[in-house]
Amino acid sequence: QQDAEYLVSLVRSVPGFPKEGIIFRDFMPVLADPKGLKILLKALEEALPVSPSEFDSIAGLESRGFLFGPAMAAHLGKGFIAVRKAGKLPPETIGESYDLEYGTASVEIETDAVQAGKRVLIVDDLIATGGTAKAATDLIEKAGGTVVGFSFVMRLDGLDGLDKLDGKPSSSLIAMP
Ligand code: IMP
Repeated sequence: QQDAEYLVSLVRSVPGFPKEGIIFRDFMPVLADPKGLKILLKALEEALPVSPSEFDSIAGLESRGFLFGPAMAAHLGKGFIAVRKAGKLPPETIGESYDLEYGTASVEIETDAVQAGKRVLIVDDLIATGGTAKAATDLIEKAGGTVVGFSFVMRLDGLDGLDKLDGKPSSSLIAMP
């Protein structure tokens, strides 16, 4: 409880970013704080939605999922897969598009990043509408893997993002209004 409060105290809330009406939740100060970083990694591991024996790899979503996913993976003895935004990776890649409020976006991995049958845990800093996590799930499953669950640092309440996750288990350390 004390640890959770400490993490919450470090999250920076920025009204009006990236646009008016949005409060951006910034967890960079958690990473910058030696005690915060240690608590974060420990809490993510304690809150895992499935047992570590139930997945082979951790997939982090660009870009903040890259900041703690590899540390979690190394500590748990798993591999790390980077799910990139479109256009960053050299070919061959596979992608999955998803709808944004205005327009579309896509996520990509190298065609051989996920071996058939690999069980994957997806991690990211924050789930809002769930669109990004859903697209990453569809991408990993298109590549032959199975997504077994999700670990988020923060969850935005009131957007029903978790409902998009095909009923798969998830954990989020901090709920934000
Ligand atoms: P969603 O697809 O609507 O669930 O949005 C989640 C994605 O957008 C994640 O990759 C987040 O990193 C990013 N995101 C959306 N809002 C915030 C925020 O307030 N803070 C940090 N990341 C955010």
